[in-house]
Amino acid sequence: MIVTTQLCGRCASEQVRKNGSSNGRAKYQCTACGYQGYLRPAGPERAARYAQVEKLLVERNSQRSIVRATGVSRMTVAKLAKKTQAASPPLPRLRPKKAQRRTWEALELDEM
Ligand SMILES: [Zn+2]
Repeated sequence: MIVTTQLCGRCASEQVRKNGSSNGRAKYQCTACGYQGYLRPAGPERAARYAQVEKLLVERNSQRSIVRATGVSRMTVAKLAKKTQAASPPLPRLRPKKAQRRTWEALELDEM
């Protein structure tokens, strides 16, 4: 079961109750301070946080450091890492392959 807590927009109290709806959007009222407002949908906030995670992944931060910085779970970071890795082209090889390196290693002194 997933439990989401909505906080009051004014006093950040957890004591909010549903207070009807308007234009299909749920309204709430804070029982601590009496503030009335709309519940903020989680989608846009989540999308912004995931975009930040993908940006950090492109900068080649470690997954655990991204978890510490953003609060996104590590499995979600791993999922996004797989997604961004598939979308970006592979990095160029910095070291030549072993077969190419062996050519100069096999040279003898009289060949030079
Ligand atoms: Zn309040």
